[in-house]
Amino acid sequence: MARNTLQKEIIHQMLCEMHNHPTAAMVYDRVHQAHPTISRSTVYRVLAQMAEEGIILRLGLAGSDSRYDGKTSPHGHVRCRVCGAVADVSWTPMAEPADTAGFLLEDCAVEYRGLCPACRQAAGEDRPAERRL
Ligand SMILES: [Zn+2]
Ligand SMILES: [Zn+2]
Repeated sequence: MARNTLQKEIIHQMLCEMHNHPTAAMVYDRVHQAHPTISRSTVYRVLAQMAEEGIILRLGLAGSDSRYDGKTSPHGHVRCRVCGAVADVSWTPMAEPADTAGFLLEDCAVEYRGLCPACRQAAGEDRPAERRL
């Protein structure tokens, strides 16, 4: 049990050091470099478990693999439509809608879509945004 706790701490810490909202596979690659004894299935299982417990976020972004996020404070995300890069953006939680269509609301996620800085440059869209409006 102590070993499990230690593995969980290592995986949590490594996720928190990655600010690119990695997939489970990306977390595994990073963990494996530093701790070759931690198996792929352990990394996947511990990430899913921590997401269930609310220690980390699992981002179900449209059209891509689940991404994980060590930052649990309320924030929005922006995803690049070309390369899939995900970054944090500030976001103010909205008031609960008066009509919830009978649903019990549990969570609200905001995902903006656009072009990341590298893809903007590659596309020649590197002019300042205000000049394009
Ligand atoms: Zn991009
Ligand atoms: Zn985030």
